[in-house]
Amino acid sequence: MNHSRSSKPQLIPLGEALRHVLNRVHPLDAEKIPLAQCLGRVLMENLKVPFDLPPFDRSAMDGYALAGETADGCHRLMGAIPAGASSPPVLHPGECARILTGAPIPNGADRVVIQEECVLEGKQVRVQHPVPTGSNIRRRAEDAKIGDLALAAGQRLGPTHIGIAASLGKAELQVSRCPQVWILSTGTELAEPGQPLQPNQIYNSNAPQLAAQIASFGGDAHLTGSVSDDLAAIAAHIEHALAERADVVCVSGGASVGDADYTRAAFEKCGFTVHFHGVDLKPGKPTLFATREKTLAFGIPGNPVSHLVVFALLIAPTLRALIGLPPAENLKAELGEPWQGKADRRDRWTPAIARQIGSRVELEFLAWKGAGDLIACRAANAAGNIPTGATALAKGVVVAYVPLAG
Ligand code: AMP
Ligand code: MG
Repeated sequence: MNHSRSSKPQLIPLGEALRHVLNRVHPLDAEKIPLAQCLGRVLMENLKVPFDLPPFDRSAMDGYALAGETADGCHRLMGAIPAGASSPPVLHPGECARILTGAPIPNGADRVVIQEECVLEGKQVRVQHPVPTGSNIRRRAEDAKIGDLALAAGQRLGPTHIGIAASLGKAELQVSRCPQVWILSTGTELAEPGQPLQPNQIYNSNAPQLAAQIASFGGDAHLTGSVSDDLAAIAAHIEHALAERADVVCVSGGASVGDADYTRAAFEKCGFTVHFHGVDLKPGKPTLFATREKTLAFGIPGNPVSHLVVFALLIAPTLRALIGLPPAENLKAELGEPWQGKADRRDRWTPAIARQIGSRVELEFLAWKGAGDLIACRAANAAGNIPTGATALAKGVVVAYVPLAG
């Protein structure tokens, strides 16, 4: 037993911890990948419109394209123009053509009348009401002109952005690389989900939970499984993650200074420099952060609620910075229910429900029995801040919060 490691760690405030981490993030390089894989990625190039949008005058409706107006409203029908038609007929005054939505407006036509307002009489179409010039025509370049900026670098790509890129003819995009995050679970008491649970074991819930949070914030999670509380075994797994070119290594459990807590020693054995070990946080106090060259590493205390909260406070901002996004805005909410509890000398971040109500957000702290009580957090979508020393917070008080998922 090594009691020398049980000296009290120096705690630093959360803001300082975050600065330590963000100062050491090197944004990841760009890569070109197929459009279908770009959801959630950050665009690393400006996308300019390579041709006018729409590229040609086209019909907005199913109906008839008319060349001018006639005294009796009747137009001679010259043909039909489906969408994609390559050589639409040329119309002369007094003539019309059947036209479908998206089809090119024929030369000579200056308006489209919807089919419901027309009567077909043999080879003639009679328009029941006068139709202003330009009706139901979507003009070339109405949406964007050649050379206009369609999407700017730095845009996080959602479904609409992917649609826009496709509409410009892009099959691939230059995007930031996806952070490769390796998760190692430590604890002799851990069994993997799907395996039988032996006496006095618990299932490794942290790794799948952390992997889900990583994925929701745009990272690629890799699980190395769980390993017993053994310095050499933990170090070997960290080395493996490094050999696999991990951008971030997360070690779950063993972050504190107990006799079986080897995370810090394992990082040091693998050549990492520890920048902080101990944050003025509850839960999550023993959290540690280390780097080796560009690889970032976190030691996260094993309690499942600590994991949720530490991820949201420190690792989610790290992933944002790695993919080239600016820091998220500081979110504030009004307490929807008054809160009462014991004073605590730590900066507390408690699982909570954040509800959007019109233009404001209301927050409700959840009652939980401790950092292992994940069940109490099942409705949580946020962690809300209870300032140091607070014993009561009135309804309507403004508190800071962070989302648990991206
Ligand atoms: P530790 O940080 O290793 O001292 O663990 C703190 C608590 O979290 C202990 O009760 C552990 O059994 C529990 N724990 C550690 N790792 C995990 C895990 N991967 N999944 C669920 N609980 C865990
Ligand atoms: Mg442990």
